[in-house]
Amino acid sequence: MIAFLLAMFKWSKDFDDLDVYSDCFRYVLFLMNDVCIFGEMQGQDANDALLQLISGDVQILQLAEDCYWTIVVFSLAHELAHAYLAGIGKRYSRRHPEKEEFDADMIAYHIVLKIIMEQEGNNRILEKYTYLAPMMYMDFFDLYYYTDRVLYKSRFFDPQHPLPIERKNRLFAIANKDEYDFDTVDGNHLYGGFLDVYDEYRDQVLLKMERGKLEQVLHTARRNQIRGNGNDKRKQ
Ligand SMILES: [Zn+2]
Repeated sequence: MIAFLLAMFKWSKDFDDLDVYSDCFRYVLFLMNDVCIFGEMQGQDANDALLQLISGDVQILQLAEDCYWTIVVFSLAHELAHAYLAGIGKRYSRRHPEKEEFDADMIAYHIVLKIIMEQEGNNRILEKYTYLAPMMYMDFFDLYYYTDRVLYKSRFFDPQHPLPIERKNRLFAIANKDEYDFDTVDGNHLYGGFLDVYDEYRDQVLLKMERGKLEQVLHTARRNQIRGNGNDKRKQ
């Protein structure tokens, strides 16, 4: 996750630098492709490539780290929310298991926003400008499904978990509530830049795939062997 944020922020910051642009695109593509194939993150050589890409850009390191913490808190709170919902005996119909995910997201995001709003001075746990980091977390999964679909023509389906884009829309509905009132300018700016790169990535993957330029990164046989055909039940 932190590797993804680093590459996306760096790409967004130096978008007009052609070297950074192509390095970041390649890095995100390889990251997503490896997640598609192995269901896991990359090895040491990829980490070295990433460090070279960032080349000591302290601002990017800081942004990625801050957003990463907000995502960590969000995903821990999401898991705790499941336990809480079970604890109070809340029942969900089998036909709509996704409702439990939305509720867990809602509670988790409420906790994140409360922490962001109520902390004072220098004792900040989460930075205000990271308030949209949980959306980036959803976008990460969305790009992963997207890449898998474009490269391997697969269709991801998990009845337990609703699509990331639906979860993201619900998070936005929460963030827009009046009770969450704090300075969102920097956070919106950061996320705006992130989304530009997100769109760019999607366009480029599709374009390059259509032009046959991604043949050498495809590992269809290995992917099918490891993943099975659509039997992926991993949790988010
Ligand atoms: Zn869940």
